[in-house]
Amino acid sequence: MPLRLFDTYTRTTRDFEPLQPPEVGLYTCGPTVYDYAHIGNLRTYVFEDILRRVLEFNGYRVKHVMNITDVGHLVSDADSGEDKMEKGARRAGKSAWEIAEFYTQAFQEDLRRLNILEPVIWCRATDHIREQIEMIRCIEEQGFTYRTGDGIYFDTAKLPDYGYLARLDIEGLQAGARVDIGEKRHPTDFALWKFSPADQKRQMEWDSPWGVGFPGWHIECSAMSSKYLGNFFDIHCGGEDHIYVHHPNEIAQTEACHHTRLANFWMHGYFLQLDDAKMSKSTGEFLRLQVLMDKGYDPLAYRFFCLSANYRAKLNFNWEGLDGAVIALERLRNAVYEMGPAGPVDEDYLEKFTETINDDLNMPRALALTWDLVKSALPAAVKKGTVLHFDRVLGLRLADWQPREEEVSPEYQALLDERQKARTEKRWKDADAIREQISAAGYEVIDTPQGPKLKKKK
Ligand code: AMP
Ligand code: ZN
Repeated sequence: MPLRLFDTYTRTTRDFEPLQPPEVGLYTCGPTVYDYAHIGNLRTYVFEDILRRVLEFNGYRVKHVMNITDVGHLVSDADSGEDKMEKGARRAGKSAWEIAEFYTQAFQEDLRRLNILEPVIWCRATDHIREQIEMIRCIEEQGFTYRTGDGIYFDTAKLPDYGYLARLDIEGLQAGARVDIGEKRHPTDFALWKFSPADQKRQMEWDSPWGVGFPGWHIECSAMSSKYLGNFFDIHCGGEDHIYVHHPNEIAQTEACHHTRLANFWMHGYFLQLDDAKMSKSTGEFLRLQVLMDKGYDPLAYRFFCLSANYRAKLNFNWEGLDGAVIALERLRNAVYEMGPAGPVDEDYLEKFTETINDDLNMPRALALTWDLVKSALPAAVKKGTVLHFDRVLGLRLADWQPREEEVSPEYQALLDERQKARTEKRWKDADAIREQISAAGYEVIDTPQGPKLKKKK
């Protein structure tokens, strides 16, 4: 059962083989830490987490690198406007460094809440200024740069296959260019190094061979991925928007300097959309995980919601959809809990599951197969062992879950104790009669490894 993955670069689903087995180099573009992540961003990180877990399920050792963009991402992706970090800092009355630290921690907390495995290496753009300057010099030496009044730019016309990842129609873009490109030679050219404005002291700026300033947004990923994973590694990921600007620019930089297309596979998670425009307007902010939690949602219900769609399909968020995920997850958790202790893994189901996840991470089908297993006639212990094995990929923390204990009134607690006594004395009829009495009052008795518990019936 080979692992097959969709590669955006070739637009094909191909067999995945690591370049240096059993290690897999995985680079995922991380957050720009000027604000909280919204649940759309988090959908992309859930997709990347599933990818990593599937690779590990296949026995590979994943060297997962994620960057933190804490400088250089301008308000407009066309290299104009203010730096997002400096703008965020001004809004909050804090320094850009404080803002970066605060939102990095908030982001890492969101990942933990969603049970996303922590990258093996975190790297901040501001900790790698030297590497970025070196790479810009390398690109310059190869003759791909030019200077304008505000920075050093990459001349995309010098690279014959620039934009191949995006299948960009360069000639069409040139002909139809109505946007003001300032001193740039071509609309697709992008900044490698920006000069600090002459009339303004930036909080984040460094010396360089070209003058005081800061790196452009794209160079950090080329420089840091090369440092930690080499000039050509296994898989590079991001959200679908990166297919058009950020990733073609990363590829251009690496091609110019190292003559490789950076990664063997390029994978992209599709966007989460909000179909109820009023929802975001009335809350006055974008939806972040904390907003869901404040409304009483378990973050793992959002993870479950993400798994219900293929990563290569857009997913519409609405509260009904999330409520559906809550109910399904609770059902699954209860079913798994009631299976008792875990036994061996069922080989047939394992084979089907592996086939499904290896088919370009088909999570909706993996969930369907999980339900199929739960409802099957296999012994409870085998089901439990198998489903917990699946959970290494699903990441729903099924092993840890305990049903919330109902507030049981003393009256019912007394009945429960009486039933327990009847059972230890093997008075089965009495025990059953008490169970009936409790059931008539709307509770269900569940015998768990920790003793009998009461659960409100649905
Ligand atoms: P940013 O913090 O803006 O650099 O984005 C972080 C990640 O989230 C990138 O990989 C983006 O491609 C991705 N992203 C942005 N918006 C969405 C969305 N609505 N749905 C899914 N992913 C998104
Ligand atoms: Zn990147």
